[in-house]
Amino acid sequence: MTAGTTIQIPRFRGEAIVPGHHEYDAARAVWNGSVDRHPRVIARCRGTADVASAVRFARDCDLEIAVRGGGHNVAGTAVCDDGIVIDLSAMREVRVDPVGRTALVQGGALWCDVDDQTQAYGLATTGGIISHTGVGGLTLGGGIGWLMRKHGLSVDNLVEAEVVTAGGEIIRASTHEHPDLFWALRGGGGNFGVVTSFRFALHPVGPTLTAGPVFWAAEDTTDVLRFYREFVTDAPDELMTIVRLGTLPPLPVVSAELHFRPAIAVASCYAGSVEAGERAVRALREFGAPLVDLVGPTLYVDHQSSLDGTVPHGWHYYWKGTNLAALSDAVIDIVAEHAYEATSPRSYAAIFHIGGTVARAAREATPYSGRDVQHTMSIDAVWLPEQDDTIRAAETAWARSFVDALQPHRAGVYVNFLDADDDPSSIHEAYGDTTYRRLAALKAKYDPKNVFHHNRNIPPGTP
Ligand code: FAD
Repeated sequence: MTAGTTIQIPRFRGEAIVPGHHEYDAARAVWNGSVDRHPRVIARCRGTADVASAVRFARDCDLEIAVRGGGHNVAGTAVCDDGIVIDLSAMREVRVDPVGRTALVQGGALWCDVDDQTQAYGLATTGGIISHTGVGGLTLGGGIGWLMRKHGLSVDNLVEAEVVTAGGEIIRASTHEHPDLFWALRGGGGNFGVVTSFRFALHPVGPTLTAGPVFWAAEDTTDVLRFYREFVTDAPDELMTIVRLGTLPPLPVVSAELHFRPAIAVASCYAGSVEAGERAVRALREFGAPLVDLVGPTLYVDHQSSLDGTVPHGWHYYWKGTNLAALSDAVIDIVAEHAYEATSPRSYAAIFHIGGTVARAAREATPYSGRDVQHTMSIDAVWLPEQDDTIRAAETAWARSFVDALQPHRAGVYVNFLDADDDPSSIHEAYGDTTYRRLAALKAKYDPKNVFHHNRNIPPGTP
């Protein structure tokens, strides 16, 4: 394809962005700046009809398809070389039904769009912890976030979806319509079609709640984690916590002399009254000698975006993930040994506490398979675009050696934390054998030619 050549997609009212177009480079960029792919055309859709036209065009021309929601997948699955990107980034509308307590969310919306609109009514649903993450990819993989222990995963709150199938048909999936597809969408990733809208159940949340991180010096890691293990054992469903191991981020709320000091943090969010939240986190705040305590009454929307600046678009990222059945002494020792070995001060590891409502949901109700573990972990190597290959090599080696050390304690993996170089067997591992085979059979029904394969792919199979 030569620069400047136009592409006509029949019955398409959006923008077809091709090489040479002034927006081409911006449109092919994704959150992870180390992903550098050159699609033949980026079909920026205006609505469901455009998505259907783009899918049919791609099939007629035998073009590789990538689907872009928020563009956050670390492996860069939202963009492909030489094919077509079905770009949903102009489809971000959110409509709230405050009486029915649902939100209708377009397939390219970001979590900030959802939080802004739903919080205007004092409502919310479980979304990601970084507000510039896409609703699409996050939800289709499961969706863990601050509200999940009280209100379930994003997929537990999904009520229905509008889907453009591999054949270019527009159908709805819910417990009443195409229930098998609806099941597959709740964790099976982008394998089953392009979701042009999601309807989520909403819950009263905030607007103010008790939230924020407490930081301790890295030397205190073993003590903090042993305390934390006991602290979360009886945590109420309302209390969600995430351990972050790395350095103190250079945020305006952190005094300059502490920026980039190695530290362990426990960040919390209490989905209930401010007072109950203060009581729930008191013991945590009183433990040891914190370096910084930023817990306090906070607007939920502000909490949702409070970490956005630590992982901006365009930096280079490389991830490893693992689920952990529990924080045993052995796991804590491995974490304390590896967490601060990264060269880049921006690299970190995060341990998400599961349990609560997530753990009580029926196992067979969704393909999400991490309900039996106490924690899921991501090890996130981060460096700047201008840094050379030496740091890339050091950071990727750090993440790999960290996850390798945890291998004896591995209890599956969250599909949304897989990176490009994870073995395809990790996708099977992410679901477990029975669920994987059920998903593969549904893939054979809804996408027998594997049109949607530029993702965490589940090829069509037999049950
Ligand atoms: P994209 O890269 O646009 O999409 C990824 C894939 O999902 C696409 O290739 C496509 O196959 C599919 N897809 C996306 N949208 C659609 C759609 N509408 N229809 C069909 N297929 C679609 N995960 C959590 O669960 N909780 C978190 O708190 C969390 N925090 C994160 C923070 C950061 C900074 C990042 C980078 C990721 C985080 N994740 C989290 C992981 C996140 O769930 C995945 O990266 C997810 O793929 C992002 O979705 P997206 O739409 O932004 O990505």
